[in-house]
Amino acid sequence: MQPGSLFIISGPSGAGKGTLVDRLVARVPRLWVSVSATTRLPRPGEVDGVDYVFLTPGEFERRVEAGEFLEWAEVHGNRYGTLRSTVEERLAEGVDVILEIDPQGAFQVKEQMPESVLVFITAPSLGELERRIRHRGAETDEQVRTRLETAERELRLVGTYDHVVENDDVVMATERLAGIVESHRPYEGCR
Ligand code: 5GP
Repeated sequence: MQPGSLFIISGPSGAGKGTLVDRLVARVPRLWVSVSATTRLPRPGEVDGVDYVFLTPGEFERRVEAGEFLEWAEVHGNRYGTLRSTVEERLAEGVDVILEIDPQGAFQVKEQMPESVLVFITAPSLGELERRIRHRGAETDEQVRTRLETAERELRLVGTYDHVVENDDVVMATERLAGIVESHRPYEGCR
């Protein structure tokens, strides 16, 4: 069986990665979204094992030392990482896998798996990013500022990605993302 492809989706906070990934999975069959581990506290409504695997800093460190992460990075003062085993199992089963991770993690994975596909999601402007982050209402002013600083830094990396999708309109952006995934799939009859 042909192994699945790995799609890595990054982009600044407020670009709408989560919404686009949800819509993508509803639109395109045979896609699996990896659930990351994090030391960040759950936001209201977030479920352990569904949105993230929530770990204490000590447990995260233990798993880093045990080599359980395909990649990990510190983002906005918390640690986030992709657990290696499930991703590798899904790819071996021929399922395409989506990682929604920050650029530090994206480049770590690309180095280990050069055939993986890097996709960067942007918003039309920094002002629009700020509006979306504030509208979400989950962060304090200080946290919003940190996220915007990170966003400015991340936007400079856009040219190093294989594909860029501007999320100006969620329906159109989902279509563009679906087109990227489908363009990396072998002819249906071969699967
Ligand atoms: P949030 O706290 O808003 O859920 O996520 C903050 C940032 O962490 C986002 O840019 C997200 O892409 C990134 N992130 C989430 N999971 C992972 C992961 O497993 N690895 C890395 N490197 N970044 C992640």
